[in-house]
Amino acid sequence: MEKQDATKAIRVRNQKTQYNEHSTPMFLTSSFTFENAEDMRAAFAGEDDDAYIYSRFINPNFRELIDKACALEGTEDGYATATGMAAVYASIVSVVGHGDHVVSCRNVFGSSHTIITKILPRFGITHTFVDVNASEEEWIAAVQDNTKMIFLETPTNPGVEIVDLEMIARVGKKHGVLTNVDNCFATPFGQKPAEFGIDIVTHSATKYIDGQGRVLGGLILGPKTYIEDVITYCRSTGPTISPFNAWTLAKSFETLEVRYERHSYNALKLAEALEKNSEIEHVKYPFLPSHPHYNLAKKQMMLGGGIVTFELKGGFSRGKRFIDQIETLSITANLGDSRTIVTHPASTTHSKLSDDERKEARIHPGMIRVSCGLESIIDILADIEQALNASK
Ligand SMILES: *Cc1c(COP(=O)(O)O)cnc(C)c1O
Repeated sequence: MEKQDATKAIRVRNQKTQYNEHSTPMFLTSSFTFENAEDMRAAFAGEDDDAYIYSRFINPNFRELIDKACALEGTEDGYATATGMAAVYASIVSVVGHGDHVVSCRNVFGSSHTIITKILPRFGITHTFVDVNASEEEWIAAVQDNTKMIFLETPTNPGVEIVDLEMIARVGKKHGVLTNVDNCFATPFGQKPAEFGIDIVTHSATKYIDGQGRVLGGLILGPKTYIEDVITYCRSTGPTISPFNAWTLAKSFETLEVRYERHSYNALKLAEALEKNSEIEHVKYPFLPSHPHYNLAKKQMMLGGGIVTFELKGGFSRGKRFIDQIETLSITANLGDSRTIVTHPASTTHSKLSDDERKEARIHPGMIRVSCGLESIIDILADIEQALNASK
């Protein structure tokens, strides 16, 4: 019988060394040795899949991290990078080149937006943005003869909008275009894009997979043939994850399901309470029935995740006053941490956008993003409610 995900996250692991250690050790070594010239020749020729050569290529801690990630996401193979952005960038440029075109959802992470609009054009790669609420016809209309990839994230950051994964996979398959989903917000315990036919799953492992705000890392997961292109690109350009970060993240996978359930429980409780609060215009959370894509979220997500956004009465200045009144929770830009984090996107992460761009990205002036941590929901709610009252 195939094992359950919680078991795979713990039991998929490297072969033990001669010491029979229970917990996988960290392989802090830049290179690996060979018994003789012939073994070394075979390793360099790629004839021995198990041979390690150099930690810029892969390393045993990298292997364990990728094996766990593939077992959970249901993908064939993968590559682990130093950051989430290295994963997003390499997942595109490993197969997309000069003269090609990318279709992307407009509401993607800020640095992904910069890659698509400022970096790819320098290499002759064009793009078309599609609205997060676009219909299947609108996605199809954006695909051109030279389109190589469709890229998006769902739920989106910070608006927690939902895109239909089954529909995107259908568009990609029909037009022979690779589909690539940044699954950072959901993790494989929240949603598995590959189950809906998505080809490539990328991650910022820095967020929920680490889950404690310690290390950065990224994952590119997909079909073996595609990952071969990623390996060719990454082996020579060097965005590989460090053994220390790979070791930390492989361990973090072991507790991800328990943590993600608690993040999701706290976030739902917070969203339900805020919906009744008269200081708030609107609350957005995938598993609140008032979410415009509640049915779709319920169909493709197993848990609603840890991010809640809400719009305060009083706009931009109220947003900043609210942040100033926070006592226990953290004011920082990260998310997916064991500590609850509050941010005011309009004055921080999205402050460089024009008013029109902010509107297009659906960032309201009084919007607050809460990344619900693992503290007691009683204390999370108490801090947010006192800050709401004190910022009136
Ligand atoms: C943070 C984030 C990234 C970038 O990840 P880093 O590890 O910070 O490079 C990419 N996508 C999403 C959705 C993110 O939240």
